[in-house]
Amino acid sequence: VREAYERATPQSRALAERARSVMPGGDTRSVTYHRPYPSFVDSASGATLQTVDGETLLDVLNNYTQSVLGHAPEPVVEAVCDRFRAGNGVAAPTEPAVELAELLVDRVASIDQIRFCNSGTEATMNAIRAAMAWTGAERICKIDGGYHGTHDVVEIGVSGDGRAHEGIPRSAERRVQTVSYNDSEQLKATFEAVGDELACLVLEPILGAGGMIPATDEFLRTARDVTEDADVPLVFDEVMSFRLSPGGAQERRDVEPDLTALGKLIGGGLPVGAVAGREQLMAQFHPETGSIDHSGTFNANPATMIGGVATLEQLDGDAIAVLNRRGDELRGRLQQIGDDSNQRITITGEGSLFQIHFTDGPVRDWRSSGAGSPLSEPLFHAMRREGILVAPRGMGNLSTPMDDEDIETIATAFERALESL
Ligand code: PMP
Repeated sequence: VREAYERATPQSRALAERARSVMPGGDTRSVTYHRPYPSFVDSASGATLQTVDGETLLDVLNNYTQSVLGHAPEPVVEAVCDRFRAGNGVAAPTEPAVELAELLVDRVASIDQIRFCNSGTEATMNAIRAAMAWTGAERICKIDGGYHGTHDVVEIGVSGDGRAHEGIPRSAERRVQTVSYNDSEQLKATFEAVGDELACLVLEPILGAGGMIPATDEFLRTARDVTEDADVPLVFDEVMSFRLSPGGAQERRDVEPDLTALGKLIGGGLPVGAVAGREQLMAQFHPETGSIDHSGTFNANPATMIGGVATLEQLDGDAIAVLNRRGDELRGRLQQIGDDSNQRITITGEGSLFQIHFTDGPVRDWRSSGAGSPLSEPLFHAMRREGILVAPRGMGNLSTPMDDEDIETIATAFERALESL
């Protein structure tokens, strides 16, 4: 497998060697790294990527769900370029941010107000700060295997072990209480035991990096109930799940959090994040009356904001319905192929999001997901040989330029890839 990959990617290999001498690992994102080296992308348009080695790949990774309209969608490119020509980096508020804020407030029932930042990491960091400032508490409750970016407290328990990675202060562990996803009893017990010490419960309505595992309705309702009873803000991290409905997963699942962290697609392909929610909580960011400092050179950058507006205008209810229908169809096909194969396969996901797991299931949390299976990497390479880019861990997602034929292409590639393992 590895030899075939190296033979197909000589330009990437040369670039990776060059990159390694100036960047550790030759890249700047842990998640995009894989052995022996990731291939370099030259350009991308619509549903496909062109690598520097002259390969064309169907992009079923879409920058980890960010590129929901595919690559270089014309209305977004135009809006962003126009804004650049009009002068972009200014230390003053601009109308595009107001437009994007109004659009999001209109679309999401739980959002009264919003503050923009530059990544999902900053979004969850600011949401947690708002919750801490509100409650005066310093501990958070999060999910085993829940991913919320790379600031200290949310790095705890990312690998389902409740521990800190190197470089994160051990003291951060004392600030985090983890619970298993979809374990309502454990969540209730945790809130009974330490609810009065908690600043917030933060969770993804679909566990993303932890395996693309949907929450049960019961778990989301329990999350709402225990936080309401304890008077602790409920924070939904919708950085990935916002694509599931015009008003995010919270609309689809009919549960309203107090705060929402957003990112990825709301910036039109430029770096973005946002913390949003109920007026009283968000008022803490008001410079005259609030207590939270929130600065950032690129916060509400006009090109990002207008790119977000142009993206959301394309991503309306109809577009999302088509994406979700294709996703349902694809997950059904992949599960059928898995069942007919000699591997143990469970497909999870919701709407246009999916993940392939090497286990019989049921997959309900990080621990039952079979994460770290030795077959994940060979599957990734086998899919790539078939012209399909998914995440090395087996995650994929659809973009609006994909049609029914692309769904068939992905399914056929999966069937052939499984046969080759
Ligand atoms: N939260 C979730 C649910 C995410 O999936 C991610 C990124 N994949 C983040 C937060 C962090 O966002 P960013 O990479 O923009 O910091």
